[in-house]
Amino acid sequence: MSKELKACPLCGTTEYLMVYEEWIPTQKNKGVDMGVVDCTKDYCPMIVRASTIEEAVRKWNERPLEDSLLDEIELLNKKLMIVETMFQEAEKLDEEASNRYELVFGELIDIIYNTKIKLSKVER
Ligand SMILES: [Zn+2]
Repeated sequence: MSKELKACPLCGTTEYLMVYEEWIPTQKNKGVDMGVVDCTKDYCPMIVRASTIEEAVRKWNERPLEDSLLDEIELLNKKLMIVETMFQEAEKLDEEASNRYELVFGELIDIIYNTKIKLSKVER
């Protein structure tokens, strides 16, 4: 199991993260052990509890928005490469077609740029 932790999603620290097991009382004389990842920097309230330490680490590292934006950027970069190739081919053959590709190329670059801005707002 990897205990590599991503930075705290609230305060961004990577240094004050504690991983431990905690006994949580459920009823009188009863309780359960839970896995915990806890950010202990200053007054940061970020804490993740799960049934095991492994699960708590997995949940801590889960960043759905960040991951989906990274996937989106990867896909857009692939599209950009295709359009770039088409553009270079068209440039040799047909000026009108090459102008259309240049337009699509510019739009894709804008989309990638905006997606990267969104990513920079969620990434730490
Ligand atoms: Zn924190």
